[in-house]
Formats: sequence, structure tokens, C-alpha cells
Amino acid sequence: MAYFDNNATTRPFPEVRDAITEALNTCWANPSSPHRAGGRARARIERARERIAEDLGVDPKGLTFCSGATEANNAILAWMNKESSSSWALVSKIEHPSILESARFSFKGRVDHLPINSQGVVEYENLERLIEQKRPSLVSVMAAHNETGVLQPWREVAELCRNLGIWFHCDATQWIGKVKHAGFDRCSSFSFSAHKFGGPKGVGVLVTREPVSWIQGGGQEMNTRGGTENLSGIIGLETAWERLAGLSHEVGDRSKWKSDFEAGLRNEFADLTILGNESPRLWNTSLLALPEFDNLSWIGKLDKLGYSLSTGSACSTGRNEASGLSEAIGLTQDHKRRLVRASSFWDTTEEQWLGLARAISRAYYEMKQDRDRSGVISI
Ligand code: PMP
Repeated sequence: MAYFDNNATTRPFPEVRDAITEALNTCWANPSSPHRAGGRARARIERARERIAEDLGVDPKGLTFCSGATEANNAILAWMNKESSSSWALVSKIEHPSILESARFSFKGRVDHLPINSQGVVEYENLERLIEQKRPSLVSVMAAHNETGVLQPWREVAELCRNLGIWFHCDATQWIGKVKHAGFDRCSSFSFSAHKFGGPKGVGVLVTREPVSWIQGGGQEMNTRGGTENLSGIIGLETAWERLAGLSHEVGDRSKWKSDFEAGLRNEFADLTILGNESPRLWNTSLLALPEFDNLSWIGKLDKLGYSLSTGSACSTGRNEASGLSEAIGLTQDHKRRLVRASSFWDTTEEQWLGLARAISRAYYEMKQDRDRSGVISI
């Protein structure tokens, strides 16, 4: 099976599986315990924190391990609302639901949305004016979009917010692990998740410039997040992080595999739309409105041919309903029902991209045949 649903989750690196097993066998003591085994567990967490913070150029004291990006995003929105309970949140229209829904929940009626253009890029030209009007307590723009892979102007927005003294949060979940992470030290806070880059599920990171606290309990994670730490998860996350170091020089080839794939499809199908294709995108993501048939039919057919893809974000998959992106971008109903996303990772090969293009052609002709046959029967 060729796996092309890596924006939903990635296969854990073999080293990650080994490190987690090893941790569960040998490093399972409570990191808060006073004995030596507890001390060793604590040291592993601090080593991971320091290593990751150093690579990101941030203070390790501001790096909290948590259960993933959903928790991290909810935490920051709840905190910013708590800090100033009459203020507004300014979030882009195409944020992940863990930002959009938690903004709606925490800021109840005090949320404004930054628009996007037809390429799925957040427009921030009016941001300064909006900030002056609303004086929001936070602005949130993601780094790379989970459905289109379109890179967002988060660095520019971070600078603007910094100059204006506004807290800027960046959901970096789809960026970290795929693209070099320079610049996140300019954000007031940012979040990411291990299972998007070869690590385990249920562990992620929130980095904040100032102390933020969201789970009260035993004072773990420097009083930010109470609860016994997910030690094996953190070790898995750190192992994936180490495994990734150095891979980014291979991006060139990989983005060519994707663009060759897209060019091949364009030659074959006149009725094909590639979303965000005029904007810089992640090297791994291609969101396509495939010809004629609805996305669940495409996905079912491709699955049988040995290729796992999805309809868009995992949150809208299976429901076959439009995601926030397709609404914001103003896609027609017909385009929305045909959206299919292919997302690769470091373990995807050129041969698999070529095979996927062939499988899409074959799926198309088989679906046409099926339709023609059923048409004959119904007559
Ligand atoms: N933000 C983005 C952009 C994502 O793609 C995802 C995962 N679909 C999340 C947040 C949530 O991450 P997690 O699964 O770690 O809660």
C-alpha cells in the first residue's frame, strides 16, 4: 500500500518505535519521584526539552510538552481570553478547527477573521487597521495549510504583531518536520505535534514567550500543565526530531516528484484543478479537484488500487462535506465534492508518486466504465 495521507498522520520512524519500547521497558519511573529512577526519567525530559528548544532558538523554559496541537491551540486561546476577558481574537479564516472552534468557544462572539485570497493565502494587508480597531489580545495565523499545503505569511504577521505589541500565535503543525524552522522564535507562541513528523500520537509542544498555565494539578511542566508527563511519548517525539535533522536538504528532489505528478495529471485531464498551485506550497501536498466523480468514489477506487489518500483534512474526511477552506476560497459546489488530497512524507518514493499518477488514470477509466455499464443496465 502506498500511503499518501501524511498530513493526517505519518508512519512512525522505526527508530521511534524502538525508542518508545525501550522507554517503556527501562525508563518508566515517575519523573517527579525523588529516587534515582525518577531522576533519570526527569533528565530524559529535560534533555528533550533543551535539544528541541535549542534547534528552535527559544528558551527551554517556554517549551511545554502536551498531548498535541489541539490541546496546545486550545490552551493558548483559553489563556489569552482569561488574560483579558473583554478583548477580541483575530484569526485567519482557514485555521484548523482547533483554532477556529476554540476561538469561538473561548472568545464567544469576540472573534474576527482575516480573509484569504483565491490561492488560499491569508491576506494581512488590512491587519494593522484591524488591530487598531479591535485591539485584539491575540492574532493567530497558521504556518502551512493542512489541506492545500499553501505556505502562509506567518513571518510577516509575526513581525507586524511584534511591532504593535500584539500576541501572535502560529499553528506550526504542518510546517515543523517538513520545512526548516527558522523564524518561530519571532512568534509569541506556536504549537506542533509529533505524529505529523514520524513521532507518536498524543504528544506535542506549545512554546510560549511568557509563562502560560492551563492545567492545574501537580505543578508538572513548570506549573504550566499538571499531570504526570507522557515520558515515552516525549522520548518518541525527541527521537523523531533527531531523525529529521539533516533531511531538509533533500526537499528539492521531493518537490520535483510532486510537481511532475501534477504536470502529468494536467496533461491528461483538462478538467483538473490544483488548489493553491500559484502559491508556494509544502513540497509534500497536492489538493486536487479530480474530474467528474465525487471524492469518496475516487478514494475508494484508489484504495483498491493500493493508494491511501483522503478528501481534505482528516476532520472533514468521511463526512464528505466542505471544509472551512473550500468555503473561504469560494469553491463551487461541484469542485468541493471532487476534492482529493495527496500528502507524502520523507519515506515516500518517486516511484510511488509515479504510481499514484498511473492509479488515478486507471481509477478514472474504471469509474467511467462502471458508470457506462450501470447506465446500460438501467436502460
Ligand atoms: N493544526 C493543524 C494545522 C493540523 O493539521 C492538525 C492535525 N490535523 C492539528 C492542528 C491538530 O493536531 P493534533 O492531532 O496533534 O491534535
